[in-house]
Amino acid sequence: MAKIFHDKDADLRVLKDKTIAIVGYGNQGHAQGANLKESGLDVIAADLPGSSAWKRAESDGIRVMTVSEAAEKADYIQMLLPDELQARIYREQIAPHMTEGKILGFSHGFNIRYFQIVPPRDVDVVMVAPKGPGDLVRRTYQEGIGVPCLVAVEQDSSGYALKRALAYAKGIGGTRAGVIQTTFTEETETDLFGEQVDLCGGVTEMVKATFETLVEAGYQPEIAYFEACHELKLIVDLIYEGGFMRMWNNVSNTAEYGGMTRGARIINEESREEMKMILSEIQSGEFAREWLLEGQAGLPVKKSLEKIEAEHPIETVGAELRAMMPWLQKK
Ligand code: NDP
Ligand code: MG
Repeated sequence: MAKIFHDKDADLRVLKDKTIAIVGYGNQGHAQGANLKESGLDVIAADLPGSSAWKRAESDGIRVMTVSEAAEKADYIQMLLPDELQARIYREQIAPHMTEGKILGFSHGFNIRYFQIVPPRDVDVVMVAPKGPGDLVRRTYQEGIGVPCLVAVEQDSSGYALKRALAYAKGIGGTRAGVIQTTFTEETETDLFGEQVDLCGGVTEMVKATFETLVEAGYQPEIAYFEACHELKLIVDLIYEGGFMRMWNNVSNTAEYGGMTRGARIINEESREEMKMILSEIQSGEFAREWLLEGQAGLPVKKSLEKIEAEHPIETVGAELRAMMPWLQKK
């Protein structure tokens, strides 16, 4: 079982004499930065001059500057730039200031795991990764609860790397909820696997295949949309809140029997074999190479697939039906 740290396991004083730079005041940056400041730590921020993120940092009362200025001033540099830009910005603006004894922090392990950023040996390299979006990290902190986080140490040059990362996690409110220890490798590989196989890739293909099967068999697309897509949220909410048994107990007996007997025919041995293939592509770095080259090429595959997806009939019928349910629209 995983090691889980709580408030009593972390000491904010470990970071009292340190300046923390939030590099990238975006989704995660604004939340982590504002929480750390409210926890009494010395926080500065970096973002693009003139951007809305820059103004947001100012209005949060945080000193904001360019990346290279922040990297020079700070002892603890938290990388909260978009993952695909981190390596270049690190090389050009951060590496020259990565002097002995500093701490380089991340909220996702990709760039370290796949050697896009190779920090010097005499700095600590750590991860504190909230398991939720920035707005939730900020709101729960203000409510006095906090979002669970992952913590990892890739490089412990000082001998205090874990203590420092745990203090950071406490500063953003994470230890109130609980902080689970992992490694950069585990966090990165499981994150990629989850989004490819289950969360993003698996779910959309399952919804499309369900919809297409019904429509090809002559059922109306509107009815197919409700069954394949709309009702998915109700099921996922039940599982999210109370686990599989809450869900099975809240659907009809017919749904429970049908689902329990048929599900394994859909995610069958062949699907599981393919999952293992996908996992081995992640472990070998093959997926990372493909994605990094795709980025360098200007995203030709991503853009093409987005176009095809946007033109799928489920998107048209879905938009019409969602317009009948205005309460679904958030801001
Ligand atoms: P965002 O894109 O929301 O924020 C990145 C910020 O960096 C933006 O304000 C962006 O400005 C700014 N930026 C872009 N280019 C530069 C530059 N050249 N110089 C200075 N600033 C720049 O990213 P996220 O917060 O979503 O992600 C940050 C990290 O957190 C990633 O490692 C991600 O994997 C991780 N993470 C994210 C989670 C999430 O829920 N979003 C959850 C857990 C981890 P602009 O918007 O103008 O481009
Ligand atoms: Mg993830």
